[in-house]
Amino acid sequence: MAGAPAPSQVGLSRPGKVLFPGDGITKGDLAGYYRQVAARMLPYLRGRPLALARFPDGITGQRIFQKNVSPHSPDWLPRTEVGKRDGTVCQVIADNEATLVYLANQACVELHPFLSRAGRLDRPDQFVLDLDPPGAGHFRQACQAALAARDLLEDELGLTTYVMTTGGKGVHIRVPLAVSGEFGQAREFGHALAALLAARHPGLITAEQRRERRGDRVYADIMRNSYAQTAVAPFSVRARPGATVAAPLDWSEVPDRGLRPDRFTLRTIGDRLAATGGGSDPWAGIRRRRYSLGRAGQRLARLTG
Ligand code: ATP
Ligand code: MN
Repeated sequence: MAGAPAPSQVGLSRPGKVLFPGDGITKGDLAGYYRQVAARMLPYLRGRPLALARFPDGITGQRIFQKNVSPHSPDWLPRTEVGKRDGTVCQVIADNEATLVYLANQACVELHPFLSRAGRLDRPDQFVLDLDPPGAGHFRQACQAALAARDLLEDELGLTTYVMTTGGKGVHIRVPLAVSGEFGQAREFGHALAALLAARHPGLITAEQRRERRGDRVYADIMRNSYAQTAVAPFSVRARPGATVAAPLDWSEVPDRGLRPDRFTLRTIGDRLAATGGGSDPWAGIRRRRYSLGRAGQRLARLTG
């Protein structure tokens, strides 16, 4: 594979094309945003096959959820073969800033990476708990559920957790994993975790997969912890009015009454990064310490009793 060009050398076609009609945000703005956050975002993308939510006609037009690399893409674009039940697909891996610009030019608004990395795609290096409130406008409930999940995961199971707003309706919690267990182990852990959370907080949290049985509760979804499944990347833009972004948070920010899912957007997150000087990254520890779910799983089993 040829080396990647300088990001400024990746051509943009029709940079003035409006992708967010309600906000006047263009393809050029999208490319500029991804260049702005590249240094902070790329560590969460390296080695991970991407699924891409593309909007060639803007976010009010058709959504293409694309996994395979287009045959027209340049030779330098990083990619990897991903085994599927009936063959393989070749997926992009955003290992450098030039790739982010290239993807923005393809109107890839949302970036959805795997929870595992090339070389060991069958073993996760992250666990994700996806907390889905019953609807828009129930974000505080999702935050309360997240705090309950943090207390269990950290104080009782001895794990370290990282939280972000998805830029959509809810929040995600991640636990960095040692690449030792299989997805099945992560799911088994997740099922037990969600069941215990629901048992302890029956009015707030449900583990019920069937939507009609969830009622007014936050759904603790652990099914993303599967081979070739994704969770939206930190700093990904969302295809929503306002161009919200998925924003890594410090836990101290979660009970904040001013925290709303649309607090951080393509236009505003630069201020947040500048304010934290790029130095105090709330997720800085995520690559430092990794956990095996073995011992945490045993503790969880004892609590479940
Ligand atoms: P929200 O906070 O609004 O729930 P979200 O990103 O968590 O935002 P979900 O619908 O809960 O959205 O999905 C969780 C994750 O699963 C997404 O981040 C995405 O990576 C993946 N996902 C969701 N829908 C699809 C889909 N239709 N195809 C593929 N992957 C999807
Ligand atoms: Mn969700």
